[in-house]
Amino acid sequence: MSETLIPRARAAGAELVAEARIDRLVLHGGRAVEARGQAAGRPIRIVFRTCVVCAGAVQTPALLRRSGVTRNIGDTLRLHPMVRVVARFSREMNDPRYGVPAEQVEEFKPRLTLGCSHSSVPHAALWLDGPSEQRLASLREWRKLGVFYVAAVGTGSGRVRVLPGLGSAVVTMDVTDEDRHNLGDGIAKLGELLFSAGAIEISNPVAGGVPFRSTSDLAAIRPGVPHGRLAVSTIHLFSTCPMGEDLARCATDSLGKVHGLDNVYVNDASLLPLSPGVNPQETVLAVARRNAMALAAG
Ligand SMILES: Cc1cc2nc3c(=O)[nH]c(=O)nc-3n(C[C@H](O)[C@H](O)[C@H](O)COP(=O)(O)OP(=O)(O)OC[C@H]3O[C@@H](n4cnc5c(N)ncnc54)[C@H](O)[C@@H]3O)c2cc1C
Repeated sequence: MSETLIPRARAAGAELVAEARIDRLVLHGGRAVEARGQAAGRPIRIVFRTCVVCAGAVQTPALLRRSGVTRNIGDTLRLHPMVRVVARFSREMNDPRYGVPAEQVEEFKPRLTLGCSHSSVPHAALWLDGPSEQRLASLREWRKLGVFYVAAVGTGSGRVRVLPGLGSAVVTMDVTDEDRHNLGDGIAKLGELLFSAGAIEISNPVAGGVPFRSTSDLAAIRPGVPHGRLAVSTIHLFSTCPMGEDLARCATDSLGKVHGLDNVYVNDASLLPLSPGVNPQETVLAVARRNAMALAAG
């Protein structure tokens, strides 16, 4: 995450088009022949011999579907459902210099990950509940607040489709009973940890829920969070173009080449066949590197 390969790519002859959005690939005779889109507000066309789509687990299937490529594309979205809570401490413990903290509890992986989240004022404001005066009062004491998360492995499956006419991605996802149990158990475990660390109040992520003020308050949520009353978010999405040789289930072969097309590859988180239950970026990069090396080797 601290190094970019872009200067090396440009030195090797790559041309970078900034602020570009590719709308669709033009297909002809089982091949993609050009990409059409916009860059800095102007139409662009890119002509190529080989096309590698790396637009992420939502936009890659959306782009392929807009281009008429649909077999096993966008049918099996997996993700890590996450909930966030805001913990209030009696003493100041937050600082603008903290940035994105990397602390995590690994003990319950892959089923559950507990961790510390970005805790700037705007981010804390996102996850606070209650009347606006109450939220503003909390934010005035922002240095006593921290945002924390529970991420579950995710046992449901979702879909990515495109809106007819507009082409925007539409994502639907089931939060299963198992997910609701894992998230409830995770909130209880995270609450125990935070109260042990000195928290005096923890926000309740269930809509209309009363904040937790002691470990005994956590008992009700441990069996599971109620259906449809939780603000679930995610930053880890996968598996919308799963790789593999099974033509009935997979969108690409094991190296990312889209089944049924001669020169189109996918190379991003869409390829991961399942939800890993751990931070995905290193796996995404490792798979992408392996596939790029194989493609370069011909
Ligand atoms: C806030 C946040 C924090 C995260 N923290 C971590 C972490 O700490 N550890 C970890 O392991 N993972 C983390 N992740 C997850 C990680 O970033 C992703 O799993 C990873 O970036 C996925 O890589 P990708 O190549 O599939 O997609 P992306 O990295 O999303 O890249 C897709 C690119 O395609 C571009 N694009 C999309 N559509 C088009 C189009 N139509 N035309 C042109 N370009 C397009 C996008 O602008 C983007 O640059 C985090 C994610 C978020 C959002």
